[in-house]
Amino acid sequence: MTDGLCNPHYQRQKKKGDVEANIPIGEKHGKRNGRWRGGQATMPDGRVLIYSPDHPNPGVAGLYVLRYRLVMEKVLGRFLRRDEAVHHLNGDVTDDRPCNLLVTSRGRHAQLHYDRTTYRWKSNATIQRETALAGTGQV
Ligand SMILES: [Zn+2]
Repeated sequence: MTDGLCNPHYQRQKKKGDVEANIPIGEKHGKRNGRWRGGQATMPDGRVLIYSPDHPNPGVAGLYVLRYRLVMEKVLGRFLRRDEAVHHLNGDVTDDRPCNLLVTSRGRHAQLHYDRTTYRWKSNATIQRETALAGTGQV
């Protein structure tokens, strides 16, 4: 029986005999959990996720949104569609500065990463080199 309590509050009730309704769950959770970083998490490849439970298109676990998507949504002033991808121009997926980001379609994005001469996915280093060349008009 949870008495209509959500899970975090139920656990609190069970452990301490009091829901401590005056203490927000997030705050409590943050202090107790050493991995808590203010609603930020990192994917194994370095991509940063932001805890965004109210976002209309949450990705990971329905609670987190990739930071670069949030950055571009702020720049564009609208939410990105699911079929829109964000490309990192310098190949560094942890570099979420707006100037390093390009909103593109999922299909076009795959093309940016796929080398049709070698039939292989390009490395980040290759993407970085191509971006540098594009900047100098050498492509
Ligand atoms: Zn990309």
